[in-house]
Amino acid sequence: MTQHTDPSAKLRPETLAIRAGREISDYREHSQALFLTSSFTYDTAAEAAAMFIGEQDGYIYSRFTNPTVAAFQQRLAALEGGERAIATASGMAAIQATMLTLLKAGDHIVSSQSLFGSTINLFNGILAKFGVEVSYVDATDLDAWRAATRPNTRVFFLETPSNPLTELSDIAAVADIAHAAGALLVVDNCFCTPVLQQPLKLGADLVVHSATKSLDGHGRVLGGAVVGSDKLIEPIYLHVRTAGPSLSAFNAWTLLSGLETLFVRVERQCETALEIARWLEAQPQVERVFYPGLESHPQHALAQRQQAAGGTVVSFVLKGGRDAAWRLIDGVEVFSRTSNLGDVKSTVTHPASTTHARITPEARARAGIVEGLVRLAIGLEHVEDLKADLAARFA
Ligand SMILES: *Cc1c(COP(=O)(O)O)cnc(C)c1O
Repeated sequence: MTQHTDPSAKLRPETLAIRAGREISDYREHSQALFLTSSFTYDTAAEAAAMFIGEQDGYIYSRFTNPTVAAFQQRLAALEGGERAIATASGMAAIQATMLTLLKAGDHIVSSQSLFGSTINLFNGILAKFGVEVSYVDATDLDAWRAATRPNTRVFFLETPSNPLTELSDIAAVADIAHAAGALLVVDNCFCTPVLQQPLKLGADLVVHSATKSLDGHGRVLGGAVVGSDKLIEPIYLHVRTAGPSLSAFNAWTLLSGLETLFVRVERQCETALEIARWLEAQPQVERVFYPGLESHPQHALAQRQQAAGGTVVSFVLKGGRDAAWRLIDGVEVFSRTSNLGDVKSTVTHPASTTHARITPEARARAGIVEGLVRLAIGLEHVEDLKADLAARFA
């Protein structure tokens, strides 16, 4: 195998998304080869021995890594500006592998309170069973992050912007608070992708991804990854290679093709999302719109500093409450009724009765998940068709 592109070369991110991590076999194929093999062979017993003790590089077994998976890892590491990435079978596998590697019984996490539901279940249901404690804070309140820190705090964790209300955490400021407490900052960069935000460059120690979302971009496969320094990734790699939540070669191959179009997709999706957010703000049926790219967003200045654009998710509150929200969702003909996001197909969700249905009504109210709230994840359809689809339900 020859390495076609040196990921450390001074190429622009748009080029890295297409060329970083590309390896070419002796057949000199132009597209990415898919290595569907569980194991690899050795010329001699001595070579096998050298590989197993790490004296010689090479592929051993696809639970450890595989050429197609390695290409995905190198490309994503280059895009996030990290030294190294480890790919996993899903976004949740990435978060679990990271936490099980960094934490032990008696340790403490400080986390933003608006999190992906399964992440909350992982923290409260699985990590708690092994003696890890979690405190949740309002991600926008830096004093709350500071106040929640304890002597046993090892990890700060956040998602920014939050889902579905698009609240931002100031990554650089939270990183400073974490480091002052001797803790590491882990950022779930699923919503922004490295196209909009590179948390490692702002001071985060590790980035976790659900590659299932925008990195694939077509709703085809599950995947995840953790990106950071070689020193922090090595123990997570050893965990994954032992415990086995490894990314399949087929999924890595699919995700590599997703990365090739990541920039053009996300940039166009953000343009459309901003236009729809502005249009929604002008509709009399709409009480409020949540989108970091709008001047009315309470953290618009931070969004402009921290993100290259407002993102692909727009949420809004309808004055008519749940009836109006469900009528809109039942009526749309272009938007898909599904909770997925980051897809080329636009989707519409009613958070109060789906993604946030299992929390108590009081907790829901505190989190601002009101009955009239609707979340849109904007895809690549023509903006006028998306607007017309919504406008027809407002008429
Ligand atoms: C979907 C998602 C995850 C989990 O990813 P899976 O690939 O579904 O395991 C984690 N964080 C965020 C923000 C997500 O949207």
